[in-house]
Amino acid sequence: MAAPHTDLRTGTHDPLCLPYESWRRLYGLACVRCGGGRGLRPGGHAYTQHLDGGRLGWAVRICADCEDCPKAIESKGELTQ
Ligand SMILES: [Zn+2]
Repeated sequence: MAAPHTDLRTGTHDPLCLPYESWRRLYGLACVRCGGGRGLRPGGHAYTQHLDGGRLGWAVRICADCEDCPKAIESKGELTQ
């Protein structure tokens, strides 16, 4: 069965079409990938379309289960406990 949710870091999303659950991920309240909340830490950025054609970047979080590229996170130098 196809999961309705994917990693929000993929592509640029139309904010008008995002379900509530996706906003929780954009705000860093849930894992950007699976929507879980265990061991959240900075996980890069997701993007939504802006009305003027640009993009809005969101600092999202990823959970301990989905964490896939810690090097990219370390390069930002904002690792917090
Ligand atoms: Zn996750």
